[in-house]
Order: sequence, then structure tokens, then C-alpha cells
Amino acid sequence: MYRILMHICCAPDATVGFERLSPFGKVLGYFYNPNIEPLAEYHRREAEARRLAGLMKFDYREGRPDRQAWRTAVAGFEDEPERGERCRRCIEHNLEAAAKAASELNIPAFATTLTISPHKDVDYIHARGAEIAGRHGLEYIAETLRKKDGFKQSLVYSKKYGLYRQDYCGCRWSIRREHKRNRSGLEQSGSAVGLELIRK
Ligand code: SF4
Repeated sequence: MYRILMHICCAPDATVGFERLSPFGKVLGYFYNPNIEPLAEYHRREAEARRLAGLMKFDYREGRPDRQAWRTAVAGFEDEPERGERCRRCIEHNLEAAAKAASELNIPAFATTLTISPHKDVDYIHARGAEIAGRHGLEYIAETLRKKDGFKQSLVYSKKYGLYRQDYCGCRWSIRREHKRNRSGLEQSGSAVGLELIRK
């Protein structure tokens, strides 16, 4: 019987997530990310999360990504900066899906690995997580994974397991942001995927 559904945004973040959530009880890793573009990148991150589950020995499921619902959720907010309304809606959509999956699988609690990122608004994530959990009759585990050097620990784990680490958050707009931030561009990082989306 699972105690916690751990929403996984990517394999590197799930390393510390699994380590810190395991003391609460048996964990089911749940990959749900309709925000990841393009499809090749989605499959790459999903395969890596699945591989990590085998390495760290936790059970794993991939949630069917509802891309249309996600696009509807962020529509009209495409130009918002990261941590703005687009990201709030994206995070809310993914937390809602995690809660729904936990409810369907009779898992009493859920948490998310999104809280390891230095770029995310953790207060917002926890507030929405708690509110969504309440609506579904679940418990939300407000674990802030970036505390206690969580992000640095994820780098150590990534090296240990040889994990793929992406260089942008997930959606096409986050690729553009990274491109602007690094004037040398995606050509130098070898991200043909990013360039392809930027041209669209
Ligand atoms: S930057 Fe990340 S959190 Fe924000 S909308 Fe894009 S994928 Fe979602």
C-alpha cells in the first residue's frame, strides 16, 4: 500500500525527492508533465525518470499527459516571465493531476519534486498543493526539497547515476528565456530541440 504519490517533474529532482519522502512511507513515483516540449524532450525526460525508479528502487507510473488541457490552462499568459501567471497555472495543472491520480489510486497523500528548483515559488506550490489536496480529501506533504542543499545533492545524485539534466524548464517559452539569458545561444549548448521551437 502506497503512502505518498510523488509527482516527478524530472529524474534529477526525483533523486532527492525519493530520499526525503521515503521516511513518510512507501512512495509511488508519478511522472506527469504535459508542459514539456517538444515530444522528443518529453520522452527523454520520462525515460530517464523511469530509469531512475529502477536504480533507486521505487515504483513508477507515467500519467497520460493532457496537453490540450495544459495549453488551455496557460493560454493568454504565454509572455509572462518565469514565476508569473503562466507558471502558476502550469504548476496548478500538474498538482491537480497528481492529486487526481492519488485519489484514483487510493493513495492518501501527495507531494511534488518541483520544490527543489531555485527558480520556483515554493510558497505558491505549497499553498496550491494544500488547497488542491483539501478538495480531494488528501494530505499534501509540504516538503521543500531545495532546503538543506537539496539542489546541490541532486547534482551529486545526477553524477552518480549519469542522469540527463535538461537546460530549460519545459515549455517552449522557457526555452526562449534560456536562449535570451545566454547570448551564446542554444547552438553552443547543442540544443537543436530548442532552436527548432524558437523558430516557431
Ligand atoms: S517555465 Fe516551467 S513552470 Fe513555467 S510554464 Fe513553462 S514549463 Fe511550466
